[in-house]
Amino acid sequence: MSGRPPARDEIAGWVAYLREIGVRELRVVAAAAGPGAAARGPAPARGASVAPPVAPAPARPSLGIGAAPDDAFPDPPPADPAARLADLRAEIGDCTRCKLHGGRTKLVFGVGDPRARLMFVGEGPGAEEDARGEPFVGRAGRKLDQMIASIGLRREDVYIANVVKCRPPNNRDPEPDEIATCSPFLVRQIEAIRPRVIVTLGAPAARTLLGTKTGITRLRGTWQSFRGIPVMPTYHPAYLLRAYTLENRRKVYEDLLAARERLGPR
Ligand code: SF4
Repeated sequence: MSGRPPARDEIAGWVAYLREIGVRELRVVAAAAGPGAAARGPAPARGASVAPPVAPAPARPSLGIGAAPDDAFPDPPPADPAARLADLRAEIGDCTRCKLHGGRTKLVFGVGDPRARLMFVGEGPGAEEDARGEPFVGRAGRKLDQMIASIGLRREDVYIANVVKCRPPNNRDPEPDEIATCSPFLVRQIEAIRPRVIVTLGAPAARTLLGTKTGITRLRGTWQSFRGIPVMPTYHPAYLLRAYTLENRRKVYEDLLAARERLGPR
């Protein structure tokens, strides 16, 4: 992640978002020395959640993943994650492995820092993402950018990917056979990036990585684990836009704060 100090408009963005979710007070803490300290942004608001220990992974095997959810990756992180991701993108190619290929305009692989410490996982591309070939660029994407900014990071500091890389028709949830076919690519992205924390956005992403049928309302805000990596499930920004209550916005903010605290020092 970049150590560039946040620009004035970025700070204004954080403050606007925090105000929007009802945060009126920020705790000021001494900045840690060293690169990246400035990029960690504002301290959590007083009373914000503190990350509890990682809960045991659900017992069910995860969909299409091919390993128990909590089996740590056997190999050390790759020396060159960008090259590993580029190889994977080349291997996926002009994919026709599942029926979603028929309706896509552009395959949406993922975007961000190949060495990101924080990774976001959504379910699949929408219309704008399909048109541009980049995840989370529509209205929900702008909300995600705002959410990322609220914890003092920028889109380019994190990595963003989806469970399926092609747009499901009419923005429906991806179906089990599509997830089973495509999710191994997501696992290999995670294996390449080896983030310190994953935040899943919405129910399909959480269910896929955690291999559970538990609803997102119960899952969100609770630490889970995927292949030894802590996972914080939260609401999808599109849901947040549909159910734009103060309560929901605060829940998402608290989930993200917990994720940021879990990142720890660089
Ligand atoms: Fe291939 Fe995944 Fe697209 Fe299906 S969704 S066609 S598996 S890239």
